Amino acid sequence: MNLRRFLGMDIAREKYAFARDAAVGHISAQKVAHDWVKTTCGYCSVGCGMMLGIREGQVVTSRGDPGHPVSRGKLCPKGLAEHYVLNAENRAMHPLLRIENALSRVSWDEAMQTMAGRFRRVAERYGPESIGVISTGQLVTEEFYTLGKLVQLGLGTSNYDGNTTLCMSTAVAGYKRSFGSDGPPGAYEDLARADVILLIGANIAENHPILCQHLDANRAKTLIVADPRVTKTAMMADIYLPVRPRSDLALVNGIAHILIRDGLIDREYISQHTKGFDELCRCVEKYNPEYVAGITGLSPELIHNVTHLYGKAKAAFIGWTMGVNHSSKGTETVNAINNLALLTGNVGRVGGSPFSITGQCNAMGTRESGFTSSLPGYRKFESAADREELARLWSIPAERIPTARGLAYPDIIDAVLKKRIKALWIIATNPLVSFPNIEVLKQALGELEFLVVQDCFHPTPTTELAHMVLPAAGWGEKEGTYTNSERRVSKVNAAVSPPGQALSDFEIFLRLADELDCRDELFTGWKEPRDAFEEWKRVSAGRLCDYSGITYEALEEAGGIQWPFPKSTDSPADATRRLYSDGEFKTDDGKAQLICTEWEPFPEQPSANFPFVLNTGRTVEHWHTRTKTGAVAILEQISPRAWLEMNPVDAKRLMLRPHELVDVVSTRGRVRRVELRITEMIAPGQVFVPFHFAEWNINEVTQDIFDPISREPNYKQCAVRVERSSLAPG
Ligand code: SF4
Repeated sequence: MNLRRFLGMDIAREKYAFARDAAVGHISAQKVAHDWVKTTCGYCSVGCGMMLGIREGQVVTSRGDPGHPVSRGKLCPKGLAEHYVLNAENRAMHPLLRIENALSRVSWDEAMQTMAGRFRRVAERYGPESIGVISTGQLVTEEFYTLGKLVQLGLGTSNYDGNTTLCMSTAVAGYKRSFGSDGPPGAYEDLARADVILLIGANIAENHPILCQHLDANRAKTLIVADPRVTKTAMMADIYLPVRPRSDLALVNGIAHILIRDGLIDREYISQHTKGFDELCRCVEKYNPEYVAGITGLSPELIHNVTHLYGKAKAAFIGWTMGVNHSSKGTETVNAINNLALLTGNVGRVGGSPFSITGQCNAMGTRESGFTSSLPGYRKFESAADREELARLWSIPAERIPTARGLAYPDIIDAVLKKRIKALWIIATNPLVSFPNIEVLKQALGELEFLVVQDCFHPTPTTELAHMVLPAAGWGEKEGTYTNSERRVSKVNAAVSPPGQALSDFEIFLRLADELDCRDELFTGWKEPRDAFEEWKRVSAGRLCDYSGITYEALEEAGGIQWPFPKSTDSPADATRRLYSDGEFKTDDGKAQLICTEWEPFPEQPSANFPFVLNTGRTVEHWHTRTKTGAVAILEQISPRAWLEMNPVDAKRLMLRPHELVDVVSTRGRVRRVELRITEMIAPGQVFVPFHFAEWNINEVTQDIFDPISREPNYKQCAVRVERSSLAPG
């Protein structure tokens, strides 16, 4: 190279050479793949099908899979750049153990022996429930199934939950209360077939971008978007409802009021398939348009018109995400949304369903197969029949299956703080950025006798606190399945080997089971994820999330199959598109429950000292706490830092200029030097900051108040003030 440079030759010609690619024409020669591996995107729950192009043992490109029914060849910016994550510099490569206050490399054998030994000692000393486990929505279903068994039957603790409680537990709890089971009833196809689509607190253009092509396919729709912020999705709407923060429940109750008052309900459906109608009528009586207008800030006429559009639609779809879920009234808001669908018979109808758009790529997988808020297969802890059936399937005494769920995520943290949980295992999540009111969490983790963090990345703010770091293989390096928001199971494949000594989470779980002497009992003969998948098929058979007819081969062929897919189903084309189309629900009497819900103001109202309502959320370029996307140069260059959105009226009053640095302050903490964006996307009195950035961690100021039913945090509203950074104390 030096000689060539000395001779004045073009030493970069290989880097800049072009070559012809059969699919896309001339591209960089280094990006022309020799082989392709089909897989599923590892970010969000849309579940786009993708192809990874391999050249000389490296993944050099990601492309949409044109044959995939969800994404039809498209990917969003994160998906298109996902392969860069595989070579990120911050990948965890070796097991590490804290020795004399520093993390030092150890062998896998030593790591597993130490982990099993420390967990055993904690269990002997304080009882098995003094061990807590917090996982994720990012593993494959085979790993969730394995982990659930390992935690409950191997470690013997029920104190197991996932970061899904920070995003989807509200939808889960809402579905269970209304319909008797978790499980989104609709399909993406409904976006293309609905007459009216109402999105509440769902910025899909930013957070689930590929869903927009299903919307675009529907030329006849009326799209209504309710959001306090003029998001990119709001900009796509036919009717935008600029609701005040957390007034969604009042709006939904107000729609129910008008539907009932104006006779826009399906009385036959209500009498045959629901219960609680009279109570609901009494409950929503006071939510007349004028009352609701006073709460939401919308005009009574607008509320009336939107209700009539919804009520007169042949098929009406309601979608929601974190705007609803991130609320201490979230579960009840989901129930109120479900009420609207039940009042009009829009459940499991072509184009009509109440549809929770999930967050993570496999949040659904942990909901189906895990041991967190349900027993595997959506079985109920409280049902003796369900426990006995599961015990029979596993050939264990029914007494080993708990009769109630263990602590949820925030309650695990609280138990750590109160020194009831002494050892914690965190898997594929980064709470030091994502948990609300981070100072309390830091204090809690400092109380632990033993903290294990298993992740693909190190260092992260959370791995840096660990006593042990276990390096995990990530997306693109392991096999299994994900389930997306429409219950579509898709295949996930390895394109390359994991870096360094990293192992798949599946392999780590089996190695720990070995050390805990429970591998033979719980995972007899298991060697690969397919073994877990085959058992999971048997365990899910006959349940709502029936996988028994699904095979890995059929998933590859079809580009994903929706459950339920019992063995008797002939082909993926015959898969059940929607749940509850026959009006039979998973409650004891088969009827859905209409649930009375009362609006109330959010807990921390603005004050003279903290005059703004803070809203937090996401941007299309980044994923969660940025451990993945922060390592992708192109995404980092587009979105390198956090910002604060403020309305021009407020900026003028505070004499702030665009791009100035500001501090965001609440009673809990201060986030320093955030870039100011002055924009009418945000209403006066409100501010918005994205939550991805550890360097400007907005969870320093958010509130640790939780939904009493789902235990999901109230991330979306808290009271803050904004100060020019140069004036703020250092
Ligand atoms: S929309 Fe979601 S699943 Fe699809 S490419 Fe983007 S991040 Fe991946």
